[in-house]
This record gives sequence, C-alpha cells and structure tokens, in this order.
Amino acid sequence: MSVAAILKHKGARVETVRPNATVQQVVDQLSSKHIGAAVVLGAGGEVIGVVSERDILHALAKHGTGALHRSIDEVMTRDVVSCKLTDTSADLMEMMTRGRFRHVPVVEGERLVGIVSIGDVVKRRIEDSELERHAMREYITQAG
Ligand code: AMP
Repeated sequence: MSVAAILKHKGARVETVRPNATVQQVVDQLSSKHIGAAVVLGAGGEVIGVVSERDILHALAKHGTGALHRSIDEVMTRDVVSCKLTDTSADLMEMMTRGRFRHVPVVEGERLVGIVSIGDVVKRRIEDSELERHAMREYITQAG
C-alpha cells in the first residue's frame, strides 16, 4: 500500500502552523481538529518543523503554564523526517518505529502534500488484511 493510496483515501488536508504562533494557539488547533500534530511552515511554504502534543507536554513540564505563551519555534522539532508519495506503509512503519514518532509529513519536492499518522497506517493495514482474509475465504469455499 503506497502513501499515495493512503492519501487518496484520507485526503490531502494538513493542519499547518506558523513558527511564531503561540503554544496556546496550537493547543486550541489540535484540540478542535482532534489531531495530535501540526506541520510548521516557513514563509515560503516549506516544512521547517513539526509540533506534536508530546512537545507541548514537555514544554508544560519544563515551564509550567507559562509554556502556553511561548512561540512554536521554541518547542517544535526541526529535524523532520518526511516521506514521498511512492513510499509504502511498511516504509512508514519503519520510519515511525525507528524515529519513535507517530506522524510523517508527505512532501513532493519542497511542497507539503499530506500527512500520515500511525493511526492511518494501522487502519489501512487492518483493512488490507480483512480484504485478504475475505479473498482467501472465497477462494477456499469455491475450491471446495
Ligand atoms: P509524535 O509521536 O508524532 O507525537 O511525536 C513525538 C516526537 O517526535 C515529538 O517531539 C515530535 O515533534 C517529533 N516528531 C513527530 N513527527 C516527526 C517527524 N515526522 N520527524 C521528526 N520528528 C517528529
């Protein structure tokens, strides 16, 4: 299953944020959209970071509620691992397991074209194995 196929199913919408937004603004954004991470974009629309609920948790542990007034570029991860449309769900699982994160932005050239979460990958893999199980059952029943 390719990243392109996963995005076709879930859509290309990505929640993004500017680096000068406050942590409070991103808390509101993540909460209202029921998501765990947003991609941070620079002035030219390029990916410059990712901020997840984990970063916000760490900032709160370190600075208390004062963290909410800090800017996103103080808490985001800058070294972003991204993937391409041609990568597979197995590639994504390896990236996520090795890097210990649950979100991977999808880029084509410099352009952000989607995001895949661990939930999207697991959902697709369960659907695929259900389809395979169904096909096997049909095959066995017909063969009998
Ligand atoms: P997550 O599991 O996605 O909530 O993220 C856990 C940590 O990894 C946080 O510090 C994130 O900023 C960071 N992170 C999330 N996604 C990525 C990614 N694709 N590349 C690099 N770091 C990431």
